Amino acid sequence: MRIGIGYDVHRLVPERKLILGGVEIPHSMGLLGHSDADVLTHALMDALLGAVGKGDIGRWFPDQDPRYAGIDSLLLLEQVMKIVKGEGYRIGNVDGVVIAQRPKLGGYFPRMRENLARVMECDPTQINLKATTEERLGFTGREEGIAAEVVCLLESA
Ligand code: MG
Repeated sequence: MRIGIGYDVHRLVPERKLILGGVEIPHSMGLLGHSDADVLTHALMDALLGAVGKGDIGRWFPDQDPRYAGIDSLLLLEQVMKIVKGEGYRIGNVDGVVIAQRPKLGGYFPRMRENLARVMECDPTQINLKATTEERLGFTGREEGIAAEVVCLLESA
């Protein structure tokens, strides 16, 4: 078995879509980034790459590379899963937390889990997602950004 951890933050700005786990969530602001800025999927990819000892997403998908401008992060996750499978591993389980003052996310988790499970070729029950606020403290509390933390356990395929 192999374990990995991922953490990511993106800035909240007006006139951007808010995409988390491949789901577009109606909100007055969205996340800024070179790709679609799906902070949850980014943290997940870093956890997976960490588990197989393959660095981080910055190394595989540099944010200066025009190929990744505006890209759907689920497509990047597909690439990461090729690396994971190439190393001989499959998903054991994934646990993630999104840290955001707003909006309420619980209702979107089933669709996020389905999206992620489809790309990771596992069952949605192997993926747990949750959300927390930071009680209006810090950058997430001031709604300047959203953070995500993910841990994953991989099993020998
Ligand atoms: Mg990111």
